[in-house]
Amino acid sequence: MPPNRPHWHELLACPTDRAKLEPTGEGLRCGGCGRTFPIRDSVVHFLAGDTGPRGDLVSVDGTAMVRGYRRPSRLVGALRRVVSSEYFPGSDWRDAKNRVVHGARPYLVVGSGTSRYPGGVHLDIDDFPGVDLVGTAEALPFLDDSLDGALSEVVLEHVERPDVVIAETLRVLKPGARFFFIAPFLFPFHGHPSDYRRWSRQGLKADFGAFTDLEVGIHAGPCSAMVNLLTEWAYVVSGMRFPRGYTAIKGLATVLLFPIKFLDAIVNRFPEAHRLAATLYVTGRKPDGPTRARVPPVLGELSRDVGGS
Ligand SMILES: [Zn+2]
Repeated sequence: MPPNRPHWHELLACPTDRAKLEPTGEGLRCGGCGRTFPIRDSVVHFLAGDTGPRGDLVSVDGTAMVRGYRRPSRLVGALRRVVSSEYFPGSDWRDAKNRVVHGARPYLVVGSGTSRYPGGVHLDIDDFPGVDLVGTAEALPFLDDSLDGALSEVVLEHVERPDVVIAETLRVLKPGARFFFIAPFLFPFHGHPSDYRRWSRQGLKADFGAFTDLEVGIHAGPCSAMVNLLTEWAYVVSGMRFPRGYTAIKGLATVLLFPIKFLDAIVNRFPEAHRLAATLYVTGRKPDGPTRARVPPVLGELSRDVGGS
């Protein structure tokens, strides 16, 4: 084994048959199906037909994702954070996130984009800067009960089967290990590369029902949501097209409206703020005992419920 091989390589498994992987010259070989997953520049590649950075990975808006994920300069980045609909006051979500990021290691960052967390193992569908594993969240390349935490920020809406991603997260976590996920509620469509769903507070509690110690709360509140929806509305009713019209109209509207978002410092504390939240967080632990994937109600129960109402 090469001396510089990270210790979390021991926890990897074949995404198809979940068998353990053994190091070979070119990468990691599955003890079950015999496939070899290549390692290039320390990034393990689990996606079939993946031959390197796919600069052509295109979002539904027609923009190349790798270009979209290029890190801006510090000044531009700071300016964009202020003149935007993004504002995340409050300490509840931050405390919950820190319990994963500053907890036991390694923890998995699902759909990391260009984010890089100390002690995290970063998985995404393309090798953006900072990614450790190229793979899909719907078939996590890890052994059962192997990881000490999981973190995922506004990724669930982009996968076709979020239920499978949640079940996979449950499977790979050690009993008692924590997760922290952020999901959008009132948020414009944004295809990176696709965009399928939104979650209410109840929706998150139901979908993460197999975990224990669940806590759901506001990440970005109603005023943030209003800036985002109004500026997006201005773009849509302008009749212009992505990406040029988007940058111009959405940008101009945001310059005018962004101060509204700061009201969330107060509004997020109101009892009904979740009704119009932009994004919500959910956190909890994998139960210590045996776990079962949540079984949806059978058709008979559903039709009885409908008939009785
Ligand atoms: Zn295999």
